[in-house]
Amino acid sequence: MKETPKQIFEKDAQDYLPVFNRYKIVVERGEGVYTYDSEGNKYIDFLAGIAVNVLGHNYKPLVDAISEQASKVIHISNLYYTQAQADAATKLVKLSGLDRAFFCNSGAEANEGAMKIARKFAHNISKDKSQIITAWDSFHGRTLATLTATGQPHYQEGLEPLPAGFDYVHFNDIDELEKMMSEKTCAVMLETIQGEGGVYPPKENYLKQVRELCNKYKALLIFDEIQAGIGRSGKFFAYENYGIKPDIVTLAKGLAGGVPIGAFIVTEEVAHAFKPGDHGTTFGGNPLACAAANVVLDTIPKPEFLNNIVEVGNYFMTRLLDLQKKYPELISDVRGKGLILGVELSNKNKLKGVEIVNECMKRGAIINCTVGKVLRFVPPLIINKSHVDEVVNILDDVLKMSL
Ligand code: PLP
Repeated sequence: MKETPKQIFEKDAQDYLPVFNRYKIVVERGEGVYTYDSEGNKYIDFLAGIAVNVLGHNYKPLVDAISEQASKVIHISNLYYTQAQADAATKLVKLSGLDRAFFCNSGAEANEGAMKIARKFAHNISKDKSQIITAWDSFHGRTLATLTATGQPHYQEGLEPLPAGFDYVHFNDIDELEKMMSEKTCAVMLETIQGEGGVYPPKENYLKQVRELCNKYKALLIFDEIQAGIGRSGKFFAYENYGIKPDIVTLAKGLAGGVPIGAFIVTEEVAHAFKPGDHGTTFGGNPLACAAANVVLDTIPKPEFLNNIVEVGNYFMTRLLDLQKKYPELISDVRGKGLILGVELSNKNKLKGVEIVNECMKRGAIINCTVGKVLRFVPPLIINKSHVDEVVNILDDVLKMSL
């Protein structure tokens, strides 16, 4: 029986672990760039499940592939082979320029696996080579190791003792990284473009210099592209924008268009740090998830698809910069790349970030605010300029209230 939103809110308040600050709508379905709540209200969805629904909602080839695979076999153990998994791994290897892929179920698991294989690899060089350096304001997941890698202390509080061997540097500060590194550095793990910490792209040459330092100290470079990958930056992998390659890259979120999946992809040299039995998963890379991933991997890397991301992303950026010109006292910065964009709110706003998000929702636009003051836009990658106009016009209306 269909319950009212109020009944669902009450059930959730009583029965669900109280970890989410949810917005008060019950989402019922989606179509393209739009979602609909149980009352029939329509929202343009510029959050896309936090960078997940890369092909939008109810994308027919994706739904067909999932249905077809489900009718054959949903799950089978990794003790056996499937066509879907073999295809998805081969596509990722080709696209990444790396050599071997492993599938898991989430971003945290992908980063966990990446750090495990990096530690094994470094351990074979020296037992002391265990330091993992990550960035302040990064986000890498919620398992004990990945929240330790996450350079935001509030995710770690009360969970001590944390796994050992992690150090932090400021993103984009190459001198600080150089001082921190030594022969004992096992890996440097960075988001290619920081997402949840406030949408920070790397400075010109920063990642190249990080690559050089990693080479100097024989440390592995891990790029977490869980949020910035899968075409979002305008290239399939965000690192392709910066003329370098990591030793390991991690993916999740959009990789299967909304079906849970994660992956890490490594060089041949790194791959052999793991021997049979050193890592594994029950669900990871199951045929259902891989059938979905294959649709994403056949669609997004096409030049016309990526070009559209660049074009619409540039248009979106221009429109946001125009908003900044209109409200210079409210918007202190606009940044990002492709379709991962952030608008930093100054402290002169009458409305808090979350209130701006709520007001946009009342007007039919789903957006997000991270770190309390950065409006983050990670829409489906199928949007066009008129979708951008729709959201920017709503935001314009809301900012007027914030003056
Ligand atoms: N890494 C990055 C860059 C992310 O943005 C996220 C999630 O927001 C994660 C890792 C964790 O992914 P998951 O929530 O799938 O574990």
